[in-house]
Amino acid sequence: MSPARRRTAGASGAAALGARVVATARALNTSGLNRGTSGNVSVRTPTGFLVTPSGFPYDAMTPRDLVAMTLDGAAKGRHAPSTEWPFHAAVYRARPEAGAVVHVHSEAAMALACLRRDVPAFHYMVAVAGGRTIRCAPYATFGTETLAAHAVAALEGRKACLLANHGQLTLGPTLDAALKLAVEVESLCATYLCALTVGEPVLLSDAEMDEVLAKFATYGVRTPGAPVRRRGRVRR
Ligand code: 13P
Ligand code: ZN
Repeated sequence: MSPARRRTAGASGAAALGARVVATARALNTSGLNRGTSGNVSVRTPTGFLVTPSGFPYDAMTPRDLVAMTLDGAAKGRHAPSTEWPFHAAVYRARPEAGAVVHVHSEAAMALACLRRDVPAFHYMVAVAGGRTIRCAPYATFGTETLAAHAVAALEGRKACLLANHGQLTLGPTLDAALKLAVEVESLCATYLCALTVGEPVLLSDAEMDEVLAKFATYGVRTPGAPVRRRGRVRR
């Protein structure tokens, strides 16, 4: 491919990625997860990540409003990046498998985060976030490196965490995966809170959760031709 064609292809790929970030950012509110300009979205790029601008109304956002950042915080764009760029950058630095990060102020996750409670193994779907619990990270002021460090620690071995007195954070290989997980986390938090109004839910044992985690390794729609993992072996 000629350098000019490569530049054009690169530019159209970047535009498509930007359009997907905007679509995901809009979906934060249309899905009911979020309200107003709270929350933020990012996607990994070859040079760092593309993140939503700070305090920008999602329905007016276009790909040109997104901010391109490096993993050490250099920003290029027409607007200030999300104030939470430190935790987006920290997740990409710490988690090579993360292709996208979603943060929302969803109601049930916020309520539980205000109680500073982890989501325990009250339902087998807790394993969807990658472990036996979904941790709640300690409180720190929004947009700080301290909050970023707390989030990365709470995400260890997980794809989601709560942020004390704040909201929730998810990561995934793609924007769709990170958004879908945020919906699952919100639903789990709502159900857990509902159960707590009647009593203390019966928790699944570590062995029961480990069985679910093992099943989740092969659960879901498979791409034709993709390798299938069974009992640790890859079967094509
Ligand atoms: P930004 O608008 O700066 O992304 O902040 C929203 C938010 O949720 C802060 O935690
Ligand atoms: Zn927030």
